[in-house]
Amino acid sequence: MLASALVTPELPSLRPPFALRARVLTPLAAGGTYHEPDGLLLVDAAGRLTFVGAAGDRPAEAATALDLRPWVVLPGLIDLHAHLPQLPNAGLGAGLDVLTWLDRYIFPLERGFDEAAAERLAPIAWRAFAAAGTTTAVVHGAVYEASLDAAFQAAAAHGIRAVIGKVMMDRLTYDPTIEPATILERSLRESSDLIARWHGRDGGRLRYAVTPRFAVSCTAEMLRESAALADSTGAYWQTHLSEDRGEIAEVARLFPDALDYVDVYERAGGLGVRTILAHAVHLSDRELGRLVATGSHVAHCPVSNLFLASGVMPLARYLEAGLSVGLGSDVAGGPELSIFTAMRVGFYAQNAMRVAGLASGPALGPFDWLRLGTLGGAQALGIDDLVGSLEPGKEADLIAVDPAFVASVPGSIDDDPEDLMSRLMFRAHPDMVRAAWVRGRALEGPGARG
Ligand SMILES: [Zn+2]
Repeated sequence: MLASALVTPELPSLRPPFALRARVLTPLAAGGTYHEPDGLLLVDAAGRLTFVGAAGDRPAEAATALDLRPWVVLPGLIDLHAHLPQLPNAGLGAGLDVLTWLDRYIFPLERGFDEAAAERLAPIAWRAFAAAGTTTAVVHGAVYEASLDAAFQAAAAHGIRAVIGKVMMDRLTYDPTIEPATILERSLRESSDLIARWHGRDGGRLRYAVTPRFAVSCTAEMLRESAALADSTGAYWQTHLSEDRGEIAEVARLFPDALDYVDVYERAGGLGVRTILAHAVHLSDRELGRLVATGSHVAHCPVSNLFLASGVMPLARYLEAGLSVGLGSDVAGGPELSIFTAMRVGFYAQNAMRVAGLASGPALGPFDWLRLGTLGGAQALGIDDLVGSLEPGKEADLIAVDPAFVASVPGSIDDDPEDLMSRLMFRAHPDMVRAAWVRGRALEGPGARG
């Protein structure tokens, strides 16, 4: 199993510029998928890809490249939705409804996520994301400003590409030190200060997302003011939408004038091209139409949706309508960080819909899921000119995967690229990601266990 781990010793010290020789598999921005069994990737001193192609086309560089074969190099995965403070409770609370689960497992945990906890946990979390193959992570923090600074500092040091936001809540909260009368003003000020310190840092590797938790925990005023803050600063705006039936009923009770859940956010000015909405499991046609019309994006979190029995998102219907969709782990609503797992469980969930007669048409294949977990996420973040696929001119956000971990019979190799991707999503192994890079800089985390 670990025979091909022998190629690792040079990896941690690899610095741009460098050349890698490996099997290459990537979606392409123009459509389709590129596969090269004996591929070459050239990364320049700035961490950009200058060549992605066949080793035979550049024999001089190929001869001196670090040879990772039979490993496969893929674009780094993009996790559009996770909760940094919740990692310690990953795997707990299966089957509870969302509002009960928040009360029992999550708010007590986030209440303890102060600066010291963030300093301890954030470096572990960024390494765990990288070990799962995620090179871009979009996360909710907790409510405490200092814990967000610690999370950003850890991301700055680790090298991962990250979008992070301080959770905003003024209708229910877990911070007993905050005066209810000043909570909105304080939360806005702290978010604004964090944007000033972190949004766009390191050439845009670190970005901020204004993060009202969801409509149940925010007043209309907080939703409106948070959206205005995102608008005026160019930060993202992220929240949860339409996760489960109990939550939807509570939103209808709290916002009796709104047409539906999406309308609550639209009235607040929250929809738009820099908006990431997690879940969106139960949308009406009207809601779906408004998300498409406003260019808003959805983080599809199928593992979480089944873990918490929230429902099954009708992905085929959404994609047919033209909705922008990427994948999220939603840790700790989802028990693990792996986006490969999100692909697998998403596939199973869509099959369940088809069996139940709730979806028709051809199933998404392995390449479609790879695209959702890479370019789909990059498009949702508006950074598909930088990452999401392995193409010259883009930044070198890469992962190297050892296919020996997913072989069903030791020593067997899938020559067909779709078969290979099928193994990676359906037989994903926690240790199969052997290296990860952002802008050509190796990230700590992968290979730590194997
Ligand atoms: Zn979430």
